[in-house]
Amino acid sequence: MLEKKATGSLFTHLQCVECGKIYPKNVLHHVCADESCKAILAARYQWKSNTLTKEGLKNRPSSLWRYREFLPVEDEQNIVTLGEGFTPILPLLNLKQYAAGKQVLLKDESNNPTGSFKARGLSVAVSKAKELGVATFVIPTAGNAGGALAAYAAKAGLKAHIFMPTLTPSAFKTETRLFGAEITEVDGNISDCGKLAGEKAAQAGWFDVSTLKEPYRLEGKKTMGYEIAEQLSWQLPDVMLYPTGGGTGIVGIWKAFDELEQVGWIGSNRPRMVAVQSNSCNGICTAFHQNAPRSEYKDSGFTIANGLRVPKPYADKEILKVLRASNGYAVSVGDSDILLALKELASNEGLLTAPEGAALWHAFKALSQSGWIKSGETVLLLNTGSGYKYLDNIE
Ligand SMILES: *Cc1c(COP(=O)(O)O)cnc(C)c1O
Ligand SMILES: [Zn+2]
Repeated sequence: MLEKKATGSLFTHLQCVECGKIYPKNVLHHVCADESCKAILAARYQWKSNTLTKEGLKNRPSSLWRYREFLPVEDEQNIVTLGEGFTPILPLLNLKQYAAGKQVLLKDESNNPTGSFKARGLSVAVSKAKELGVATFVIPTAGNAGGALAAYAAKAGLKAHIFMPTLTPSAFKTETRLFGAEITEVDGNISDCGKLAGEKAAQAGWFDVSTLKEPYRLEGKKTMGYEIAEQLSWQLPDVMLYPTGGGTGIVGIWKAFDELEQVGWIGSNRPRMVAVQSNSCNGICTAFHQNAPRSEYKDSGFTIANGLRVPKPYADKEILKVLRASNGYAVSVGDSDILLALKELASNEGLLTAPEGAALWHAFKALSQSGWIKSGETVLLLNTGSGYKYLDNIE
């Protein structure tokens, strides 16, 4: 047995984001155990002023583990890493004619292991689950989460079972098999996959890492917020556009900003957060514009942006809260506009984005034209993944 080497994590406990109930940190949890609540659990940290400074970050590794004080893993030996995070922020200079006086930046998450930002959440979730003794994982996925879980499970020497819609481009299926995971193709959408995965988890005792039904993928994804702040010299953009499926990213980035304010590294200014959905699954948009606290199940079938085919996000309430608290907005985009935007980004900027990321470029142009985004503002688009796995969808 190797000797324990502390990460310096300041993690103290978990807390239900709705009812405030506290849960201890050293056992496995899914969601709030109160049957009438069942909301998501968030990791809480106890900041000590002498532990880390902005300056101190400069010598840290170029991965999300540079923020290890604000991550839940406590023993370094449990960190399962493939070099995720610290992705570049690129200005879109060649598309300036569309920007009409705005500065448009793109954070390129396609540079992550397995080609998407899902690597962040699963690096942290697999690491923490390993620390708590998990041997076998199960996940429902629209594609990228399955590949990422399979890769991190392989690296950790643990088992992974993946439930993926049959209508997912073949690259997503092939990569999971190459990583040694067991894949079950489901004739349905991610909700159908989630139901099956949940049943198998209960029967076989596998650990279910469905989006926001365990607390640590959120911790991995929040690191995008830490990076955006650090990479932009602690000046947040005016507007952020995020392709919203289950919403881990948007909820996580918002959590990061709160934590950074508590530490005193940023002030109280926040970007206006925009959720961008597919026309196929735009329940958040409808709820946002109707002032509803939750979204309704909505699925109109296939979209080339498979990551956005989420009929009813588990954390819909939290996503809507972020949009409202930030004076944000919600829009949805159809496949033909996504495809045009993808080609425009590729041919002008040399970026082959995931269709989910390309949707943001179309949404930016629409919000810019309508005047919702104003001249002089800085806008950050979060390209969540690489287009290379989607060639079946976009050719
Ligand atoms: C999963 C995924 C999304 C949606 O992410 P959430 O955090 O679940 O909202 C967006 N884009 C890509 C490429 C994805 O794989
Ligand atoms: Zn609760």
